[in-house]
Amino acid sequence: MIPVLTLAAAELEGWLAEHDAPAYRRKQVWSWLARGAKGFEQMHDLPKPLRVALGEDLAVTSLKPIATSVADRGLTTKTLYELDGGHSVEAVVMRYAERTTLCISSQAGCPIGCPFCATGKFPFGRNLKAHEIVEQALDAERLLAAEGRRLSHVVFMGMGEPMANYQAVVDSVRLLADPDLLGISPRRIVVSTSGLIPRIAQLGEEKIPVTLAISLHAARDELRDVLVPINRKYPVHALVDAAQAYGARTGRRVSYEWVMLAGVNDTARDARELGGLLDGRLAHVNLIPFNPVDDTPFHAPDRTSIRAFKEMVQAQGLNVTVRDTRGREADAACGQLHERLMRSRQAVEV
Ligand code: SAH
Ligand code: SF4
Repeated sequence: MIPVLTLAAAELEGWLAEHDAPAYRRKQVWSWLARGAKGFEQMHDLPKPLRVALGEDLAVTSLKPIATSVADRGLTTKTLYELDGGHSVEAVVMRYAERTTLCISSQAGCPIGCPFCATGKFPFGRNLKAHEIVEQALDAERLLAAEGRRLSHVVFMGMGEPMANYQAVVDSVRLLADPDLLGISPRRIVVSTSGLIPRIAQLGEEKIPVTLAISLHAARDELRDVLVPINRKYPVHALVDAAQAYGARTGRRVSYEWVMLAGVNDTARDARELGGLLDGRLAHVNLIPFNPVDDTPFHAPDRTSIRAFKEMVQAQGLNVTVRDTRGREADAACGQLHERLMRSRQAVEV
């Protein structure tokens, strides 16, 4: 069976025409998908024979949920999905008073290999297709519909490097933003990248003004070459220039992520270097306390050191916040549920 979102709007309308149904039925189907329909039989405003025919040819999703974990007293839900072909990816729903955010994956695994990241530890699997990215959001809507909630924000901060799967990510953003489907405004979509400069420039030309987040983590090449290995190809000053050009082009303030690693990038020197790098730029710095990953040499700084680093960065004249540690108990940082599952599979295989 073909997942319905592998068909572009015109293709689904073509399928409908072949089944003697008017084109406007496509919008009805998409609207049901956006509201978390579990199957075509639920789509009550479609004629029964059409619902049956849809169910015979098409599937509402290609993703198979294989594990879930819940944290923060039910406010954070993480789901691991099996993709066609057997790779797996995860997505995390985070419920707040004013918004509901989905953290989404763009690749099974990641080719960049940052040494503090759980996703980079396993061999790279494959790129996701656009429909597989959007299906994570449809499944989140399924979960949220039962609670009377809808997704308001999507962040590409799950597994994978979105800019290394460029076309599928751009296509998925267009679908997420499409008013006929989820209608999430591009400014409420954050694409996080380790820094593929040519792709950042290309994204600026797409006329989809998503918010760009740069995973900076270090302001000097010598350290960033180690923490974010793609830096050897695209050094940090050139990266910030490309990111700021994107910001100017789209009118969106760029966000710089800084995962805090005790004794590695949380010193007065790091704060000064960060100040120098972003001096006079319209930017926002987001400090992320390191979420521990087994078999890495890194540790999260204690609260006092986090606060001290924040103040040092602020003293540089920068706008800075500390991200809450949502989902820590749910293994909710990038790739961690996947890692646990892979470990248990290895344990079974041994
Ligand atoms: N590949 C992209 C997007 C996915 S990672 C990128 O690197 O930007 C999303 C964010 O989670 C990145 O800023 C990444 O550095 C951060 N991250 C990865 N592992 C982490 C960990 N163990 N603790 C805290 N943040 C982590
Ligand atoms: Fe890949 Fe991002 Fe993890 Fe680095 S932090 S390995 S770029 S997913």
